[in-house]
Amino acid sequence: MGCSVALIERSRFPRTKVCGDYLSPSALAALADLALLDRVALRAHALRTLCLSGFGLGPVRLRLPNPGGLALARSELDALLLDAAVEAGAALHPGAYLASHEEGERVDVAFRDVEGVDRRLSASALIGADGAWSAVAQRCGIAEAERRGGRWAVGGHLAGQSDGDAGEVSMFVDAGGYYARNPLGGGVVNAMFVMPKPVALEEADRAVSAITGGRHTFDQPRLERKVAIGPLRYRPKRAARGRVFLAGDAAGLLDPFTGQGVPVALRSAQLACDAVRSMLDGREPARAAREYAAAHRALVSPRRFAAGMIDALLRARLLRTRVFRNVVRDAGAAESLLAAVAGADARFSPRLVWGLLA
Ligand SMILES: Cc1cc2nc3c(=O)[nH]c(=O)nc-3n(C[C@H](O)[C@H](O)[C@H](O)COP(=O)(O)OP(=O)(O)OC[C@H]3O[C@@H](n4cnc5c(N)ncnc54)[C@H](O)[C@@H]3O)c2cc1C
Repeated sequence: MGCSVALIERSRFPRTKVCGDYLSPSALAALADLALLDRVALRAHALRTLCLSGFGLGPVRLRLPNPGGLALARSELDALLLDAAVEAGAALHPGAYLASHEEGERVDVAFRDVEGVDRRLSASALIGADGAWSAVAQRCGIAEAERRGGRWAVGGHLAGQSDGDAGEVSMFVDAGGYYARNPLGGGVVNAMFVMPKPVALEEADRAVSAITGGRHTFDQPRLERKVAIGPLRYRPKRAARGRVFLAGDAAGLLDPFTGQGVPVALRSAQLACDAVRSMLDGREPARAAREYAAAHRALVSPRRFAAGMIDALLRARLLRTRVFRNVVRDAGAAESLLAAVAGADARFSPRLVWGLLA
């Protein structure tokens, strides 16, 4: 971005991250803009279709929007992104962010390095890209008040799976939850179960068997890199204040159903860099923060709205049966909705949902 960048990261990479490992066409477009798509595609597994089943209906096969999607373990993707940032000139400071405060035109940032030594950095701006329940948001007083509700997720990788080399994501939907299998190649599948409330792992085996009509169990004893997280609900009061900008999940968690977290993280980081750049070029910080917050809203609102609409449809018994019947009868309307939510230039219109209800 034409200025010096310091990266404070508390995990040692490669590290595991709760994720379906799915890169939608909009993620591919964001990676292409960063000139990283070729590097990612070399390691990733290509996806062409989504196979959807639910409520005793389906399966129905939907084409992913052009150019299709990719599957890559987040441990690999994130390590690649970190390497690219360092190659581009960012200085990596392994350690955990502790606190920060603004003083004049600087932000003073305190972090603890891997040796346990407390260190300080002084910067023109701070971008908190430290994930959901962001420490930056909390310590800068822009975190949300505690909220209740939200789904829970548990998942991991399963080796030796017959669908591990397919070019198809399988999704089994039930009221309030879903089970997704994303092939990573080499016989490995990312298996993710998202449920309305946390359940014991043995219970997850039974629930997944019920959702998939006996086709799969969660197979939790064989699950590698097992991760669980919840409740999936976090949204700070604002995306920026003063010289502090939040990007990615730190600026708000999206429902994982639409698989839009990675593109939003990449795009919002770009927007935050643009805002910092404009500040360094003389824009008043409060104005840069307002402009970033507006651009961030424009990025996430359509996706949040789409996820909310889909969620509402799935929760309403009569509507969801109708929608699923329509999808099975005519996959075209569902493919249009998919393109609007996950396409390279994701643009969602409520009319698309009405198309499925008609
Ligand atoms: C169940 C589930 C499934 C999902 N599936 C998909 C999917 O298939 N496709 C998709 O696109 N999105 C998916 N998402 C969303 C996606 O995982 C996130 O949106 C994305 O990882 C956000 O990236 P991020 O960089 O903002 O945060 P993160 O990936 O969480 O990265 C934050 C980083 O900050 C570091 N950090 C945290 N605290 C500190 C600190 N105090 N000091 C220093 N460093 C710190 C962490 O170590 C971490 O490396 C899913 C989410 C969930 C919950």
